[in-house]
Amino acid sequence: MSQKFDVIVIGAGPAGYVAAIRAAQLGLNTACIDKWLNEKGKPSLGGTCLNVGCIPSKALLDSSQKYEETQKGLKVHGISTGDVAIDVPAMIKRKEKIINTLTTGISGLFKANGVTSLSGTGKLLAGKQVEFTPHQGEAEILQAENVIIAVGSVPVAIPPTPINGDTIVDNEGALAFQEIPEKVGVIGAGVIGLELGSVWKRLGSEVIVLEALEEFLPLADEQIAKDALKIYKKQGLDIRLGARVTGSQVVDNSVTVQYSDANGEQEVSVNKLIVAVGRRPYTENLLADDAGIELTEKGFIAVDGQCRTGVAGVYAVGDVVRGPMLAHKGSEEGVMVAELIAGKKAQINYDLIPSVIYTHPEIAWVGKTEQQLKQEGVPYKVGMFPFAASGRALAANDSAGMVKIIAHEETDRVLGLHVLGPSAGDLAQQGVIAMEFGSSAEDIGLMVFAHPTLSEAVHEAALAANGHAIHMPNRKKR
Ligand code: FAD
Ligand code: AMP
Repeated sequence: MSQKFDVIVIGAGPAGYVAAIRAAQLGLNTACIDKWLNEKGKPSLGGTCLNVGCIPSKALLDSSQKYEETQKGLKVHGISTGDVAIDVPAMIKRKEKIINTLTTGISGLFKANGVTSLSGTGKLLAGKQVEFTPHQGEAEILQAENVIIAVGSVPVAIPPTPINGDTIVDNEGALAFQEIPEKVGVIGAGVIGLELGSVWKRLGSEVIVLEALEEFLPLADEQIAKDALKIYKKQGLDIRLGARVTGSQVVDNSVTVQYSDANGEQEVSVNKLIVAVGRRPYTENLLADDAGIELTEKGFIAVDGQCRTGVAGVYAVGDVVRGPMLAHKGSEEGVMVAELIAGKKAQINYDLIPSVIYTHPEIAWVGKTEQQLKQEGVPYKVGMFPFAASGRALAANDSAGMVKIIAHEETDRVLGLHVLGPSAGDLAQQGVIAMEFGSSAEDIGLMVFAHPTLSEAVHEAALAANGHAIHMPNRKKR
């Protein structure tokens, strides 16, 4: 007789493992199937995020930032260091150790919460049956009351630059270089391209970023994107906009990349080429023909606002469904679906999902951009505060950028918070909290902020929206 579960989750990335843990917490008999194997051939839970995404990229961003700061940023504090060296294999090993700690941590959480962890491939059949094929052994059919599909995404491949895992790599390869390439090309100036490009630039590579669009970071606030581009260029990132990659040749340890831009056909040679042109939902061999699940035109699993597919009792969450491909978006969907299955009321505010780009300075935002509000015809006002006027940022010698609050012109309700600067990701979270509670700019202005903190810039930006910032002249007195 086949094993029966209240919930079977397919995929243990941040969407799936969180869904499984929450379902088990709610008393549901839960199994989670995941097929990820690490380079040693061992199961490694946590999906893209923990294995080749959010966490390893941040590990390398932090290592490379420390290296660069030690090289260039300590003199101003009166610290001299002599020659500074980087041991790349040791840096990569540290990253692997962090991955190992976190992925085994999830195994531990599964055990602690009573989630049955199954290593292998899951396939959804008709009638909420799931075929489970372990890495070794025979397939078996499992029966579920509810299925949560959380199979995530994979990098988009483009024909002109096929990945060979050596000179042309995706995120996985770019997080594992064992030495510093002299010249790195990055295709795509999106979040992943900028973060990975920054890592190798800080370690000493010459980095050229080729981006097909003329506009830089079109989803960010225009002004923030413009300022960020200036800063990145000053840091030495060679970002070429309007540059569409059309071809490549690999000869020995070098890749020649052809691209077209406003001036015609161009060519550049690099030692490593990182392809970071986006990610696509991954549903290969996941759905039996009669499973009844619909895909959208772009290959996402079609779901409603609460992640229900067209089949009762089958849900899909995370990168495999619409919305931003972000770990925290998938995790919250996982929690929501587990709670819905347990008979609770649950929803997500998709308008308040924060975005962060972990360059230095960071970029982060939540809510509406100025260009969106203009397009929607919503009257708004802006309050801005530069970190150059923040005591804490100056003390840390980290004062590039600003906090920008956008509030409704008439109601004063906060509509967006945009940060370029130190700890932008953490500061933007204050916007999520404020906006979730329907706060006005005045409300934020009336709160007490600890001194000296970076958060004071949020306070001052809120005051500036109403023309009474204290630590800078107000453009508009209100
Ligand atoms: P995934 O994490 O992709 O997990 C899906 C899991 O399902 C995988 O383990 C996969 O092997 C498994 N699977 C697939 N099919 C099957 C099957 N049939 N049977 C069994 N198992 C299956 N997001 C952020 O929020 N912040 C960041 O800083 C950030 N940085 C990133 C940096 C990089 C370099 C990359 C590549 C991504 C980054 N992301 C970041 C995005 C983030 O990693 C994804 O949004 C997130 O991992 C998606 O979670 P998920 O659970 O939907 O899917
Ligand atoms: P994101 O979707 O944020 O990960 O960003 C991927 C980026 O890659 C987008 O800004 C695309 O415009 C860019 N891109 C896609 N295809 C190409 C290409 N052939 N040449 C250059 N850039 C590209």
